[in-house]
Amino acid sequence: MASALVHYTAAAVTDCGRKSSSNEDAFAISVEHGVYLLCDGMGGAAGGEVASRMAVDEMLRLLTSRAQDAPLAQAAEEAVRATNEAIFSRSQRNARLRGMGTTLVGLLVEERRALVINIGDSRCYRLRNRSLEQLTVDHSLVDELVRAGQITPDAALHSPLRNVITRALGTRREVTPDIFEYEVEPDDLFLLCSDGLTRELPDSLIESLLGADSPLDELCARLVSAANTAGGNDNITCLLVRAA
Ligand code: CA
Repeated sequence: MASALVHYTAAAVTDCGRKSSSNEDAFAISVEHGVYLLCDGMGGAAGGEVASRMAVDEMLRLLTSRAQDAPLAQAAEEAVRATNEAIFSRSQRNARLRGMGTTLVGLLVEERRALVINIGDSRCYRLRNRSLEQLTVDHSLVDELVRAGQITPDAALHSPLRNVITRALGTRREVTPDIFEYEVEPDDLFLLCSDGLTRELPDSLIESLLGADSPLDELCARLVSAANTAGGNDNITCLLVRAA
């Protein structure tokens, strides 16, 4: 039925933050193909910027040219594998880029189906009925220690180990993404973001900022501005996707 069609709109803002003049975050949007991607790069010299740019460009290219009848999860896994290989082999060929890698969080939508892909500590949240839920699990050392009950969530926030991520795209020959599948409901609002947002703002503040009835680009701008006001210690990127 035609009434079953879901329409998506999207907006994103990326910002250097207040402590850096470079931006190692990158994002890509194709509303037409239902592909939304965000990456936060790491690695010395220019490595971080190269890795996150390569990752969003390569993932976008592969996912928007996928076969119409290819199962979405399979297309996502294949795109991650090829992108990982491309970044890893470039880092092996170029000493200046050695060790570069990036997080990846992606939202792929097909009608009412949503697939969330995650590697690293960028996040995907969903606001539904004004309630915010984190859909991804961080692949970070402190998060694993919290889940194992070895440190408290509060200690994790201040731990010197909080930059250590346990999975990244492009740093090893192989990587396994988390892939979660959801049924989309009208008015669902998805947020993809880098840790420059979530280290500065508690989920409760993100939830209340996203609850405002405003255009998506304004919501993105408000999140970024709040993260800068709270410190702006890292690059900040927010990507919002609304279902209607
Ligand atoms: Ca970051």
